[in-house]
Amino acid sequence: MNLKELLRKCKECDKCRLRKTATQVVPGAGGSNAEIMFIGEAPGANEDKEGIPFCGAAGKFLDELLDSIDLKREDVFITNIVKCRPPGNRDPQEDEIKACKSWTNKIIKAVNPKIFVLLGRFAMGKFFPKFQISKVHGNAYKKWDRLFFLMYHPAVALYNGSFRDVLFDDVRRLRNLLDGDESKVILVEEEKSEIATLMKKRREEKKKKKKKQLGMKF
Ligand code: URA
Repeated sequence: MNLKELLRKCKECDKCRLRKTATQVVPGAGGSNAEIMFIGEAPGANEDKEGIPFCGAAGKFLDELLDSIDLKREDVFITNIVKCRPPGNRDPQEDEIKACKSWTNKIIKAVNPKIFVLLGRFAMGKFFPKFQISKVHGNAYKKWDRLFFLMYHPAVALYNGSFRDVLFDDVRRLRNLLDGDESKVILVEEEKSEIATLMKKRREEKKKKKKKQLGMKF
């Protein structure tokens, strides 16, 4: 299925309660071959009305950030963790995120970006559930041979103006990454850590078995 068809199908989704209160599904927008994918949280009131992600106040600030590093909307693809507006702009709930997950994954597969820019804790949580955004914003990570750049959600700057500079600083780092400077990329060795956990478990089991045998003997 190509991206256009996928987005059309996504617009028909009614897998969770959010569709009942939303005006429409907002699957995402941007270049179909974009190498950079921005992932936000959820559509707000403007996005719900227009059907376009990040077209309200947070979107205007996102445009400023993009502009500051010479990126245009057509250069990137933008989507959200949930594709329907939560009522009153509340946080998306776990089951709503889960219901929308397969759309996000299909969109990722269709666009196949090299770099993900994760905006805020919900987008970060999809890939790095143990991270804290206040500690990792502005960092780039490599996992599954893809790059992930972590940022605060642009909306934080609307509530607290001091975050504007933080976000501008962070996108400057993103610019360096896009220009090929991977010197500060932190490698997340997913497979190795899984093996490490497995080996630890095996070691502990062996120890337990030995103790049991000794206990039986003496
Ligand atoms: N905030 C988001 O996370 N996504 C949007 O599309 C708009 C605001």
